[in-house]
Amino acid sequence: MVHNGRWEIHSHSTVSDGRYTPNEVAELMADHQVALWSLTDHDHVGGCEEAAQAASRLGIEFIAGIEVSAALNGESIHVLGYGVDTEVEQLADYGDQMVADRRQRMAKMVQRINDLGFEVTMDDVREIAGGGNLGRPHLARALLKRGHVDNLQQAFDRWLADDGPGYVPLARPSVPEAAEMIRDAGGVVVLAHPGRYSEFSAHLQKWIDAGLWGLEVRHPSHSQADERRLIELADAHGLGKTASNDWHGNKPDSVSKLGEVVFPREWKEEFLEAVGL
Ligand code: AMP
Ligand code: ZN
Ligand code: FE
Ligand code: FE
Repeated sequence: MVHNGRWEIHSHSTVSDGRYTPNEVAELMADHQVALWSLTDHDHVGGCEEAAQAASRLGIEFIAGIEVSAALNGESIHVLGYGVDTEVEQLADYGDQMVADRRQRMAKMVQRINDLGFEVTMDDVREIAGGGNLGRPHLARALLKRGHVDNLQQAFDRWLADDGPGYVPLARPSVPEAAEMIRDAGGVVVLAHPGRYSEFSAHLQKWIDAGLWGLEVRHPSHSQADERRLIELADAHGLGKTASNDWHGNKPDSVSKLGEVVFPREWKEEFLEAVGL
């Protein structure tokens, strides 16, 4: 029964910046007794078909998902879409456009790092990304591989953070635009890891009007105080609540932690109703 089993509804594959292919993620989900899984790659649904087939073979309930990179006043805001129809043209076009935009933007970031005196190439980054949507974590790994930093965080702290000298922003939709695109594809809209954003509650009603369904109140980046505050906020606005590991498979302990997020039954029931399962 999907209500009782383990859930991983926020995960990434090599289609974006995750470590494993959709097939491999599916196998790992099965190994860890995950009953309900959603693949939510950044800005692309390209892994969902492979994931859905693997999930069906392995007896896992699968929900096609996406994590859209929206923005508010230059700050990156992630918007999750659940149960999207991956055939909808606008969604597929958005994904392809983002792949092209991200490629151009990565070339600029590589150039900036070179201008700062450190050798790294687009080929380095592409090799690490393995055909996936190019993001800053790939560049950080390329810099680590070249020996320019001792760990990935150092690459962000020196160059790649939002205010860093190697950072180039991406053109991104607003939260209401992202929500509308997800809704038009039949999806349920959840604000990812709201604890990471600076004050946003003044915008919440506008986002709800644009179709926001819920808040991801439980997330590895949230403190207990964040979580309490977000649960109160969700309840005050009649929003759904979700929990996730935001699973990328990149950290040393991530495979062993798979499926371990606590997702209360009441939250699950509201979510299942919203996605129509
Ligand atoms: P991108 O979508 O290419 O802008 O990359 C965003 C990803 O980079 C985020 O999902 C994080 O994994 C990572 N990231 C961004 N800023 C930082 C930071 N200051 N420290 C560590 N990781 C970061
Ligand atoms: Zn990611
Ligand atoms: Fe995110
Ligand atoms: Fe994520």
